[in-house]
Amino acid sequence: MKSLSLLFLIVLISHLQSVYSASLRKNVSEKAGRLKEQLRSLKIEKPFEHFRTFEEIERDLKKWAKTHPELITLGVIGQTYHKRNIYSFSIADNDCGENKPAVLIECGMHAREWVSPAICFHMINELLDYNSKFSNLLASFDFHMIPMLNPDGYVYTWTNDRLWRKNRSPQAKGCVGVDLNRNFDIDFCVAGSETDPCSHIFCGPKAFSELESQAFRDYATQLKQENNLKHSFHIHSYGQMITYPYGYKAEATVPNAEKLEQAVYKAAMIIKNLTGTEYTYGQSGKFIYEASGGGDDWAMMYLGLESTYCIENQDTGDYGFMLSNRKIKSAASECTEIMTVLLQHFIED
Ligand SMILES: [Zn+2]
Repeated sequence: MKSLSLLFLIVLISHLQSVYSASLRKNVSEKAGRLKEQLRSLKIEKPFEHFRTFEEIERDLKKWAKTHPELITLGVIGQTYHKRNIYSFSIADNDCGENKPAVLIECGMHAREWVSPAICFHMINELLDYNSKFSNLLASFDFHMIPMLNPDGYVYTWTNDRLWRKNRSPQAKGCVGVDLNRNFDIDFCVAGSETDPCSHIFCGPKAFSELESQAFRDYATQLKQENNLKHSFHIHSYGQMITYPYGYKAEATVPNAEKLEQAVYKAAMIIKNLTGTEYTYGQSGKFIYEASGGGDDWAMMYLGLESTYCIENQDTGDYGFMLSNRKIKSAASECTEIMTVLLQHFIED
């Protein structure tokens, strides 16, 4: 009798155990399912698969910030005439609390240069991938981006005019838009600029008249004052060129011109060896043409940065501003490699 009740007890316990572990399994698998579902809903499509609309850009920046709250700070640094947000996107691996030098990357200043914001997206993706070479730079630098500086102009290139360059603020003579890269306060409207508001290189009624250039100025100034900003990159297309300041006047040179010349030379050589694509390089005012009021010149002179670069990406004119989806990946990979070389040039010092 005793042994029978013992047997009953053992059977009961093992039954209870199996019920318990089944419910535990169910709980665990439900949790995993929910987590997977959550991750699926947060998944970012590969950045180089297609050009994104502004709505897609906003959506994906928010998703990224949600998936990596420990690394990413998404901010709004201004609003455009049409009340669209200008976002900042910072990736900083600040575990040790060090004050690393900061890098600012600005994309999407000129509306029609669609590959520019696509490159910022590629770079974010690379920085978040711990297997990528680019992400190693997080040990030495904090990264701050403006992934889309000119959303009004960008939206207009999707809806009305694919080749629009400026922003969309109303100007005199019934014309619209200012060339943001002529609107900074450095030799304002002297070279390579037009005072005619209908021109696509109209410098604006005065320096910093535009909400977008003001947003850039204020954000970069804040990064300089609070975050040890040392380098800025200005991502444009097309022409395959890597340039450093100054552009406002050919004779105006930066104190460390020799060092910057070495850096752009090295970057161009490395890309040529890696992919065969040729990038020309040099001081912008000498090498391209003089153009005053540019954001890169202003950042160099007024913020006293160690380096600022303008990268004109693929191609050399076959597709020009209308680079195809198929080319995003190679253009973005090359630009990322160029930036890696240019930044490493300052680590190796
Ligand atoms: Zn441009």
